[in-house]
Amino acid sequence: MVGFVGHLDQLVPSLIYDPIYGAGRLQLHSAAKDLGNLKSGDAGGDDQYKWWNSETQSNWWDGYMRNALLLNDNAAMAKVKKHIDTILSTQDADGYLGIYDKNLRYRFQSENGELWAKTTLYRGLLAYYEYSKDPVVWNAIVKAVDNVMRQYPVNQSNPFFVDHRFSGGVAHGLTFTDVLDKMYQITGDMKYREYALFLYLNFSANTTSEKDVQLKSILDTAYRLQSHGVHTYEHLRPLIVAAYTSGDSILQKALGIYLSRIQRATTETGGAIGDEWIGGRKADATHIGYEYCSLQELMDSYTVLLQKSGNPAYGDAVENIFYNAAQGSRNPLHSGIAYLKTDNSFEMMGTKNGELEQGRNQTRYKYSPAHQDVAVCCNPNAGKITPYFIQSAWMRAGKDTLVAALLAPTILTTTVNNVPVTIKEITGYPYEQGFNFQIRAPHNIHFVLKIRKPDWVNTIQTNEKYKLMDGYIMIDRDFKSTDNIRISFETSVQVKQDSNKETYFTYGALVFANPIESTEQKGREYAPGFADWMYTPLTNTRYACKEDAHAQYQQGKIKVNLFNTTTGKKEWVTLVPFGETILRQVSF
Ligand SMILES: [Zn+2]
Repeated sequence: MVGFVGHLDQLVPSLIYDPIYGAGRLQLHSAAKDLGNLKSGDAGGDDQYKWWNSETQSNWWDGYMRNALLLNDNAAMAKVKKHIDTILSTQDADGYLGIYDKNLRYRFQSENGELWAKTTLYRGLLAYYEYSKDPVVWNAIVKAVDNVMRQYPVNQSNPFFVDHRFSGGVAHGLTFTDVLDKMYQITGDMKYREYALFLYLNFSANTTSEKDVQLKSILDTAYRLQSHGVHTYEHLRPLIVAAYTSGDSILQKALGIYLSRIQRATTETGGAIGDEWIGGRKADATHIGYEYCSLQELMDSYTVLLQKSGNPAYGDAVENIFYNAAQGSRNPLHSGIAYLKTDNSFEMMGTKNGELEQGRNQTRYKYSPAHQDVAVCCNPNAGKITPYFIQSAWMRAGKDTLVAALLAPTILTTTVNNVPVTIKEITGYPYEQGFNFQIRAPHNIHFVLKIRKPDWVNTIQTNEKYKLMDGYIMIDRDFKSTDNIRISFETSVQVKQDSNKETYFTYGALVFANPIESTEQKGREYAPGFADWMYTPLTNTRYACKEDAHAQYQQGKIKVNLFNTTTGKKEWVTLVPFGETILRQVSF
């Protein structure tokens, strides 16, 4: 692993190797940690800085190990194994695996990271268990989750009780439902889902600084999303799990309302407001930014919804975030991502397109391998986004149905009725729309292959006999031990309008943008090859789409006829995939 995902522990070692789960557990008078940041514009105060290193290191390890597995990187896996052993050695005899000393744990009246520090750690442990099937790791997780369920008994405790101050860490802790949902999927034991439902209802009933997902906020028709963006999007998952566990019609209705509110906050590239409080606003291509953490959290929430509902529209939402907003926030030239980014990006010198913000020295709009001057949250999450996308690319629907839920070049190795099956999905997607599913099995085998049909498909080209059902292409036949399915999708340029009546051009899964030439400036260098980079434009030309732009797709680009707002004349402009750009105009 050559980029920042493989090296973050060397760029910010004191954050990653803080022994916060072991010898450095937090005690009554523990001081806030010095994270090396500017603390500019933080609402949270010092309490959140006590638990913060648990999130940073656990999210980084989570992404690091999943990438190591995908890459078959043995050296990285050996490092992961050592880390897992170290972490497991910190577990107390009663199962406690977390960041607090004995006289603090489970007894909070205000901001804390009890459940959140566990969530970020256990998600990684579960990933490692799913890969290794190591019973030692599994038993440790079961004991650790049991410890939580014993200390905060279901329906008879109040884990989300806090006083009226900021409680971001407590609110993050609601995503402990990620752990519970996965435990349920592995064991089939309903107690985990019922505990997740309890957590959601308890969170809903308490006072919090992150109100968006609370049932009373959702059912209040006048309410507008206002919380810290990343909380709002990660909290979609607990609501999904609660709604699907209970089957309760009010929770189901609440889920629908919450999804439409999130949609209102999301741009056409999948970037949902996260700069950092939503504050009742709706999405805007130029004036409202999104945080990399939010991209990962919202994408992950949609994968859960895709899994639980089967609704292919959520597959489109996942692909939109991953192939557009997320790639468009990554530096194509250097290893680094933008902490904050806007769809239209006219400069990346720290501020949002040059706007000054009152009371804040904004430095988030730049590319960095760590963003330590703000917070090392986005880079660990950027390490998670690709493996989280890929792990949801294939799903199972019943014993003998395999589902290509997200389209991507992947290799699936699985079993169908105990027979090993490998499917190699060979494709240049999302840059091309043709697929060859190469199937290998020890002998002839019958199963159903379901392929999600994206919403932009005009026609399906294949020699296979298929049925179209609920947005999926169903191929139900006997497969030879060496077999192929060739399929391709025909599409055309789509012209979309956002809620501000600005025009976007898409082709297939990709949004296209006019790249703006720029000069780059180097900022802080963390290590050779790992620096902050900032960009100023070479031109301030803007284009507008006032009438038919005669859009034409040509060899991976889109040609459009637009008004040059400086000259007042129409010009042909060549748009490229949004994910390849640094500075750009994408809405016209
Ligand atoms: Zn972040």
